[in-house]
Amino acid sequence: MPDTLIEAQALVRTYRQGLTSIDAVAAATFRLHSGDRVALVGRSGSGKSTLLHLMAGLEVPTRGTIAWPALGSAETLLPAKIALVFQAPSLLDSLTVSENVALPLLLGKRPGDIDQAVRDALATFGLADLAGKLPEELSGGQMQRVAMARAIAGRPRVVLADEPTGQLDQPTARALLDALLAHLTGTDTALVVATHDLAVAARMETVWQMARGRLTECATTMEDT
Ligand code: ADP
Ligand code: MG
Repeated sequence: MPDTLIEAQALVRTYRQGLTSIDAVAAATFRLHSGDRVALVGRSGSGKSTLLHLMAGLEVPTRGTIAWPALGSAETLLPAKIALVFQAPSLLDSLTVSENVALPLLLGKRPGDIDQAVRDALATFGLADLAGKLPEELSGGQMQRVAMARAIAGRPRVVLADEPTGQLDQPTARALLDALLAHLTGTDTALVVATHDLAVAARMETVWQMARGRLTECATTMEDT
């Protein structure tokens, strides 16, 4: 049996917006197991980012429960056990590409050769030549690949990627996903990719659909050939 990494029951996250409030996540019940490959799809504003932040332990639920049976308590998850790739660029401006990728390894006190892990992660996404560059010298797409390299460098149990191909053209998006899936093949790392790109969703084993904060459907896609 694969490990249950994340388990949520009737999860709700409400935000105040002026005089009203909005249930960004209105009802989400799900389990994520080791090895799962999930596409989280839904329109802009449907609650995908909020759900990923709840899964990472970054946001606290307003109601309902979320637990990480095989991982531990919410405060211990980031960055070593769960890696979150934010929707907005999140590289530190004053650090080089290599230093950005090394940062969670240093914070997570990962044992072993950090330099080697950084080189491997950069190579996975074809970024070796950019190791010494600063973020301001990169294109948007390159920054997204560096953020992805940073996420996988520490071999987390869960990768949560928020619209990782949002700024990329189709061939570049496909290459990024190819590299990510190839890297994860044979590992039991779980992957959740929020996307409104159906070509991305079709590459995952499972599709979770969000609409107005509700996780309404869990469909299984055809295996990509
Ligand atoms: P998605 O990622 O699918 O676009 P989000 O999770 O970002 O959706 O947002 C879901 C809803 O919650 C939207 O209506 C958004 O405006 C609202 N929302 C998200 N974050 C906040 C926040 N920090 N404060 C107030 N409202 C928020
Ligand atoms: Mg979002």
